[in-house]
Amino acid sequence: MTNLCIVLGDQLSHSISSLSGIDKKNDVVIMSELMSEFTYVRHHKKKIAFILSAMRHFAKELRDRQITVDYTYLDDAYNTGSLKNEVQKAIQKYRPVKIIITFPSEYRIEKDIEQWKNNFDLPIEVRPDDRFLYTPQEFAKWANGRKQLRMEYFYREVRKKYNILMNGSQPEGGQWNYDIENRKPPVDNLNIPKTYQSQPDNITGDVIELVEKHFPDHFGDLHPFYFAVTRQDAKEALDQFIRERLINFGDYQDAMIQDEPWMFHSHLSFYLNCGLLNPLECAQEAEYAYRQNQAPLSAVEGFIRQIIGWREYVRGIYWLNMPEYKEKNFFNAIGNLPDFYWHGNSKMNCLNQCIKETKENAYAHHIQRLMVLGNFALLAGIDPKQVNEWFLIVYADAYEWVELPNVTGMILFADGGYLASKPYAASGNYINKMSNYCKGCSYKVTQKNGKDACPFNYLYWDFLARNRMKLELNPRIAMMYKTYDKIDNAQKTQITEDSKLFLESLSL
Ligand code: FAD
Ligand code: SF4
Repeated sequence: MTNLCIVLGDQLSHSISSLSGIDKKNDVVIMSELMSEFTYVRHHKKKIAFILSAMRHFAKELRDRQITVDYTYLDDAYNTGSLKNEVQKAIQKYRPVKIIITFPSEYRIEKDIEQWKNNFDLPIEVRPDDRFLYTPQEFAKWANGRKQLRMEYFYREVRKKYNILMNGSQPEGGQWNYDIENRKPPVDNLNIPKTYQSQPDNITGDVIELVEKHFPDHFGDLHPFYFAVTRQDAKEALDQFIRERLINFGDYQDAMIQDEPWMFHSHLSFYLNCGLLNPLECAQEAEYAYRQNQAPLSAVEGFIRQIIGWREYVRGIYWLNMPEYKEKNFFNAIGNLPDFYWHGNSKMNCLNQCIKETKENAYAHHIQRLMVLGNFALLAGIDPKQVNEWFLIVYADAYEWVELPNVTGMILFADGGYLASKPYAASGNYINKMSNYCKGCSYKVTQKNGKDACPFNYLYWDFLARNRMKLELNPRIAMMYKTYDKIDNAQKTQITEDSKLFLESLSL
């Protein structure tokens, strides 16, 4: 009596629900390297290598546990290339009594699995993905009847439910959120520890060759390759973060420094999102460090909020609103993504830095994504579909469930304020305050208009003016319209002209 247990490329957790209670004698785990998954958008080369290597290591670890794994390699002659066909093939081979799979992370795969009921004459058991702290149903229940969904209130519920950083029924230290103590501008001579670096083994070496052969035209650098690809190494990356960087995580969470891609961030999202790490363990380790006086409460709370707050919240928003969420375009933005998002060859140093680092590492930290790359896309009025595709391609942690709400909701405000209470629009002043990028830029951040002025400066006002009807009544932005109204007419005309010329020069 064989069950087929399907494990997808982002379900690489030994505790995954599809493997719970597995009968090692009879059941078979099915894992497949699917060309369709790597090409439905043209993912960054490093991201493909990372996932393939992590999958192969995971399969090996399952076999070491005496679990039977039927693994299809990318260039196997009998690889059918799609999930449905791989399952069909396995059904013919093993004649199972049941298919077991953990609820997938993405909508398109869930729809695919729903179809299996029509395709295969077999019971299909879809088990909850208990690596997340809230199921989509629990999130829907929390959201039900609320006028506005706000992450902060959701986060408090999660803290209470899982007893994280709590002191009885009260938040540790008396406050839920310590951001007021975080987010300092960068200072000179910061000693930033290196990110975790693993040595590629033979499995990773094979995968790198494979990626070079099959995906030569995809975006991004494959070398050097240093991501952890096993649970053990990912755990070491977590421990290293807690030991070396957590202490400064809060202080420099929003800071950006030229040629410092990693700052004091954790660099754990790739491992969390493919299952090598579990969110609860990351939060609990950080809390433990606080209780041992190894890191301040402001840093620990800030880190924990990102993981059990933002991460769970965006997933809840995703499942509550798909598939409509993909179509949102509140500002009717239709601009094309400028070519420099692929080459990093604009005159704007901040964008070049973030794009160059993205190309090298398949990583950029949150504030680079939000306040540089995202801010520009918002101000320039770029079509949300194109922006979403870019963000889905270029980051090793990008899966639609987490990428889409961050892009459509957080950076583009394309959902009209459903996820965020106001657009994260900012002029060059913010970037100058939180980074040293402006020092090396061809534009002058202090100049408001004219050919040498920082484009963020006039684009910011132009964005507000263009979208006045849609934003003016937002209490969190109304103040900015008061400031705009005080600008004299000649300068307003200049803002419009500069913006028009600049956007035309990008052929948007
Ligand atoms: P840290 O700064 O160390 O944060 C710790 C963890 O908190 C992260 O590993 C991540 O799991 C979680 N986290 C923090 N912020 C968010 C958030 N807004 N949403 C979800 N989780 C969060 N994150 C992804 O995992 N995949 C994506 O595709 C992705 N796309 C993004 C696109 C945009 C435009 C923006 C603004 C943010 C995006 N994020 C995405 C969220 C965040 O930027 C990354 O999770 C973070 O930069 C990963 O680096 P880190 O592990 O060093 O994070
Ligand atoms: Fe970016 Fe403007 Fe600063 Fe140049 S001057 S780095 S474009 S914010």
